[in-house]
Amino acid sequence: MFTERLKQLTPYVPGEQPQDRQYIKLNTNENPYPPSPAVADYLKTVDVANLRRYPDPLFTELRGALAKRYGVESDQVFVGNGSDEVLSFMFYAFFDSQQGPLLFPEYTYSFYPVYCDFYAIDYQKVALQGDFSVDLDGFLRAGPSCGLIFPNPNAPTGIGLPLDRIEALMESYPRDRVVAVDEAYIDFGGESAAALIDRQPNLIVARTFSKSMSLAGLRLGFTLGDRQLIQALYTVKDSFNSYPVDTLAQQAGLRAVQDRVYYDRITAQVIATRDAFSADLNRLGWFQMPSSANFVFAGKNGVSGEEIYLTLKEQGILVRYFNVDGLKNYVRITIGTDEEMATLVAAMEKYL
Ligand code: PMP
Repeated sequence: MFTERLKQLTPYVPGEQPQDRQYIKLNTNENPYPPSPAVADYLKTVDVANLRRYPDPLFTELRGALAKRYGVESDQVFVGNGSDEVLSFMFYAFFDSQQGPLLFPEYTYSFYPVYCDFYAIDYQKVALQGDFSVDLDGFLRAGPSCGLIFPNPNAPTGIGLPLDRIEALMESYPRDRVVAVDEAYIDFGGESAAALIDRQPNLIVARTFSKSMSLAGLRLGFTLGDRQLIQALYTVKDSFNSYPVDTLAQQAGLRAVQDRVYYDRITAQVIATRDAFSADLNRLGWFQMPSSANFVFAGKNGVSGEEIYLTLKEQGILVRYFNVDGLKNYVRITIGTDEEMATLVAAMEKYL
């Protein structure tokens, strides 16, 4: 009844979304603030009769707004049902291990190996540097590869790379292989590689509405890249599902992209809360990695990540721990509101 393909799959496990009780939810890097009020205004006035029509398969308006926002042309933008979907299309379109394995960092977004298994792509993990930053030279030293993917800032460390380092990598990496930068968290303090796409035809940048745009429930992601790469993603989409982005998502996303003032404000707030929380961690004697994201990867000597997770869960606070060798002493803590972080800090002081 089931294919061999299916039997080979080990699915990605997202962070918990418990429905049983109210938690302070700091485990899936969601934004603590609501999306732009312009999104709510739109949803209140939706003409439901229009839902009898299929959505625009080319997301024309939303693409145009994204192009304007990021200073590129519309044909350098592709939109999908969350960046997970866009990433999946990228794996299908660009990485073919006949030319060598796909390379990604040893500790990174754990969906990458799942896509590799799904599409039968060989991969090789490249060790992080001593300070846990992504080792771009390590990608070059690793021998022939069919492409590279890494998040900037990386997950779950939160550590960002400066743009000049990515540009230097692009200058040394073969031009006929794609370099994918997953910028899910870039708005919280990183430098986007989107600035390079006009000069680097083999560079593609993946972005999401789920974090800084506070729209994880809407499922919108997009990529910025050379026209040929974007065209390839349309080919994958149109071989899979003509309409992955529904009408409501396209229209609500459009309202969000246009409200830069609101998003700049809440992003600045998240960053300020993160920096204050990092100072609290130092005061409490915890260790942490320097974060450019909306989460902090931290731990405390003598306590395992799992113990931290369980202790905080009992107090009604959810954080994420990774049952992975090398990361077991850490938890990943999403930045919430000041009030949520104050409750967390109080629980850490009392119970950990
Ligand atoms: N990339 C990274 C590095 C992530 O952490 C996440 C969130 N789990 C995603 C991509 C996917 O985000 P989404 O599908 O919600 O756009």
